[in-house]
Amino acid sequence: MLHKNRLFTPGPTPLLPAAQTAMASFTAHHRTADFRALFQRVLTDMKDFIGTKNDVLVLACSGTGVMEASVSNLASPGDKVLVLTAGKFGERWTGLAKAFGCNVDVLSSPYGTTFALNDIRAKLTPDVRAVFVQATESSTGARHDIRGISKIIREQSNALLIVDAITGLGTTHLDVDGWGVDVIIGGSQKALMIPPGLAYCAVSERAWKRMDDTTSPRYYFDLRKERKSAAKGESSYTPATSLFAALGAALEFIREMGKGDLAKGREVLIDNAELCAEMTRAGAQALGLKLYATSPAAALTAICSPDGIDSGKIVKEFRESFDAVVANGQGEMKGQLFRIAHIGYYDYLDTIGILGALEHVLARVTGKTVAYGAALRAAQEVYARGLSSHPQLVEA
Ligand SMILES: *Cc1c(COP(=O)(O)O)cnc(C)c1O
Repeated sequence: MLHKNRLFTPGPTPLLPAAQTAMASFTAHHRTADFRALFQRVLTDMKDFIGTKNDVLVLACSGTGVMEASVSNLASPGDKVLVLTAGKFGERWTGLAKAFGCNVDVLSSPYGTTFALNDIRAKLTPDVRAVFVQATESSTGARHDIRGISKIIREQSNALLIVDAITGLGTTHLDVDGWGVDVIIGGSQKALMIPPGLAYCAVSERAWKRMDDTTSPRYYFDLRKERKSAAKGESSYTPATSLFAALGAALEFIREMGKGDLAKGREVLIDNAELCAEMTRAGAQALGLKLYATSPAAALTAICSPDGIDSGKIVKEFRESFDAVVANGQGEMKGQLFRIAHIGYYDYLDTIGILGALEHVLARVTGKTVAYGAALRAAQEVYARGLSSHPQLVEA
């Protein structure tokens, strides 16, 4: 059969055609009025996409670049910092903070789970200068309770809260300013529907003040310097100009989803991910599969491989039979689970398609009879119920 190559991975994600066209035709030099206008419009729109009034910076790097910037700009060697980790991306925070000489305290929760808020309370001694966490842990599919975590921090400490929301933004409702998140981080290859290469963050005034006392070395990733340049409509070094053009088109698309209101479009995009995720969970469970995460995120669904089957076989079968790219487990989780993302430019038909394919993949790798239509039926029921409770999704 004919196969269309499709990405179901938690980054990179499917590309928005309008964004691809915008970047293919973009030629402006970055020190021109035209580019400055685009740059400034994108930075302003990004505030609505994130849902913040704080200053936003967009840098040419992968998501990890801005994770590193948040460590080097906010923590000095010897500073006590707390990392909350329950997966490979949480472990990245530990590695980064150690690389910059921080005194790292780690609260870890087993893969697939999230943190008990009381354990965070106990770890949050007055000397903790910063707390690092993910909004959604893309390696396990878990959603962490950022509202609950920020409430504890704001109540009992002066620590800054830095949230890697690289798959959380655009898939998860996050009240960044209301909850007091100091730095929130995203990446272009996730819900923004454009290729990898840009990462961004919104930074609170408390965090900007902290940067003046930080002694860690930084040069390219000096956020204070970028903030000064951004105020003039520029970046300090050559920006990824064509990716900015793509980003501008993606933000317009999200604004149209909100009928001219970008913040509303963001909410619709998030509800879309929530509904696709709920359909996927119901479909997988209807086939007798178990979910890996106890508090599943809308960004992606991590599904346990059936007993005795390496999940690599499932990933391979998706690719060979349908040219569908789903993700295996990372690190120690390799072989145990597979991950289907619902991030960004991803819709009802993608969801139904991957669940239909899952029924065949499962039949082939297990050699057992699968009740065809079981996953689809469960997903259809979720969709019908979801539309009645989310009328904005019908109109969008
Ligand atoms: C994708 C992702 C990252 C960033 O990875 P890069 O490869 O550096 O872009 C970081 N954290 C999470 C949770 C992610 O999903």
